[in-house]
Order: sequence, then structure tokens, then C-alpha cells
Amino acid sequence: MEAQKTILITGAAGFLGSHLCDRFIKEGYKVIGMDNYITGDRKNINHLFNHTSFSFIEHDVTEHIKIKDELDFILHFASPASPIDYLKIPIQTLKVGSLGTHNLLGLAKAKKARILIASTSEIYGDPLVHPQPESYFGNVSTIGPRGVYDEAKRFQESITMAYHRFHGVEVRIVRIFNTYGPRMRLNDGRVIPAFMGQVLRGEDLTVFGDGSQTRSFCYVDDQVEGIFRLLLSDYSEPVNIGNPHETTILDFAKEIIKLGESEQKIIYKPLPQNDPLQRQPDISLAKRLLNWEPKVPREIGMKITFDYFKSLSHDELYKKEH
Ligand code: NAD
Ligand code: UDP
Repeated sequence: MEAQKTILITGAAGFLGSHLCDRFIKEGYKVIGMDNYITGDRKNINHLFNHTSFSFIEHDVTEHIKIKDELDFILHFASPASPIDYLKIPIQTLKVGSLGTHNLLGLAKAKKARILIASTSEIYGDPLVHPQPESYFGNVSTIGPRGVYDEAKRFQESITMAYHRFHGVEVRIVRIFNTYGPRMRLNDGRVIPAFMGQVLRGEDLTVFGDGSQTRSFCYVDDQVEGIFRLLLSDYSEPVNIGNPHETTILDFAKEIIKLGESEQKIIYKPLPQNDPLQRQPDISLAKRLLNWEPKVPREIGMKITFDYFKSLSHDELYKKEH
């Protein structure tokens, strides 16, 4: 019988990290979760604490990381991911993408573990090429408000490739496009929880700008499958994982109003600075390399996500964080 593999997952108490913990436990791995709860929630992994293959370390990854166990794999997912989070904690965002990634690469080198880092479509900035293939270098403002996230992630990719080329560390880089599903934080300001929360509270939906900007939304199970396949592949350069089904934010607001069978109005607010006007992944590489493409239709993913938010308590639905 093959020995049980051990994987360290940072950002384990967050949206994607918690789903990744579930998936790797299901695949028979020993999972060590790590998080400092800055934007995550223990409730996302509460169900794992009694599991014999799961352990947890509360730790800020920008501080030196000590792990006793041997590690086969590392998934580095710790980082604020929502614009209002990273605007509220800009320095921590820069630190987790730079110092945090440096610590994890050092750990991967010491343990001879393969490391996959969570990059983002944000490295393409407000793209001048559409859809975005991995070969596009991007259009990011270094000093704009989103720069703290985008540049941290760009640095993260550079230091990861440097560890690969200079130290021979086995690396994988996933460029994640907007992903949604249960366990997103209702008040994290991202558009899906924002609109769904507004529908459930009977509030008007706040569309930023004229709503003509586009995004392409990927259901979490599809994203996790793509990440799983990439980790086990032998490809060291960045790979886009996302759903190419693109929609305007205005149409999306109307879709969520319909889903809630509600009659709320749409109100318009100013478009945040440097908000990308369009975004759609070119997933040809993932299809070719990983034989991966998204499977979950939007109506199904949205219904599951809406039902999740609907099941939250009254207090959670009305909790104001910002
Ligand atoms: P999230 O905020 O739900 O999860 C991030 C987790 O990281 C949280 O639990 C938080 O407490 C933890 N964390 C942050 N800083 C930390 C630190 N210094 N030390 C330890 N833990 C820390 O966000 P998410 O949507 O799950 O995103 C996870 C990763 O995926 C991030 O790296 C993000 O940049 C990337 N990503 C996500 C999306 C998306 O659509 N969800 C898109 C692109 C990239
Ligand atoms: N958005 C919006 N209303 C909201 C929250 C977001 O119109 O209440 C818009 C936002 O301006 C952006 C899009 O929805 O154009 C997606 O925003 P999100 O924060 O989810 O992700 P990102 O901009 O990082 O892709």
C-alpha cells in the first residue's frame, strides 16, 4: 500500500482553502491546515477538527514557519482575496504575498515538497487582450489601490519561478479567475455575496459603474478539480483556471434578482478605481494540459450558493463588518 501523503494548506479557514482541505482529505491525504483567521472563519473547517487525517496550526505565514512533519505538498492559499479586504489591510496583503510566499518556498525547499501557489487573474490588471491567455503580461497600475494585491501576486509568481530555476523546487502556479460557492463571507464585498445578501435582506442591488464591466464566474468544485489536476501535473508555469462564461455585472444583478424571486431595484454607485472592465479566462492550456474544463452550469452553482446564504442565521445575514 502507498504511504499516506502529507499536504500543508495555508489559508485553510478561508473559502477556497477549506474546500481544498475537504478535497484532499477525501483523496486520502493527511492535511495540515494553517491560518491566522484574518479574513477566514473557523466555522469553515469546524467539521474537520475531529478527523484523524486533519490537524491545524494557527499561524501568520509572514512569520517563520516551523513544521515537524515531512511534507509532500504545499498549497499556499493564504491571502485576503476581496478588494474591500485588501484595501482595509493593504500592508498585510503585500506581506502575505511576498514574505509569506518566501517562507513557504523556503519550507518547500527544506522539505523537498512540491508547492502550488494561488495566483490570480488580477495579475492581468485591466486587460488590453481579451480573453486573457497565460502569455499576456498584463496591465496593472503599481500605485493604484488594487496594486497592493496585484503586485504582491505578481511578485509571488516571480519568486516562485526563481525558487524553481535557482533551487530546483517543484512549483505549480494557478491563476484563479473569479470563483464562487458556499463559504464565501457574506460581507466580504465580492459581487456574489454582496448581491445575494442584498436580495435576502430586501435591499436594492448596488451595481458599480454602469454595470457593463464583465466577469466570468467559476463554481468552486470546478476550481478545486482544476487545482487538484494541476498539482499532480508536471507543468511548472502558470495555468489559468476559471470559467469562460462571461457576463456583464448588470445582467448578473438581474440574474440574482430572478433567482431570489424578488423585486428589488438596481441602484448605481461609482466604479471603484482600477476596477477591470473585462475579464475572461482563455483556458486552452488547462484543457490541453490537464484535460480540464468547468462542468457545473451557472444556474446550478448559483442556486447552491444562494441556498447556502439563505441558510445563514438572521444575525449572520445582518452582521455589518465594514
Ligand atoms: P479567503 O479570504 O476566504 O481566504 C484566505 C484565507 O487566508 C483566510 O482564511 C485568511 O484568514 C488567511 N490568511 C490571510 N493572511 C494570512 C496570513 N498572513 N497567515 C495565515 N493565514 C492568512 O479568500 P479565498 O477566496 O479563499 O482566496 C484564497 C486564495 O485564492 C488567495 O490567495 C486568493 O488570492 C486566491 N484567489 C481567489 C479567487 C477567488 O475568486 N476566490 C480568485 C483569485 C485568486
Ligand atoms: N461590484 C458591483 N457591486 C457590488 C460589488 C461588486 O457592481 O456590490 C462589481 C465590481 O465593481 C466589479 C465586479 O462586480 O466590477 C466584481 O467584483 P468582485 O469584488 O467580486 O471581484 P473583482 O473585481 O476582484 O473581480
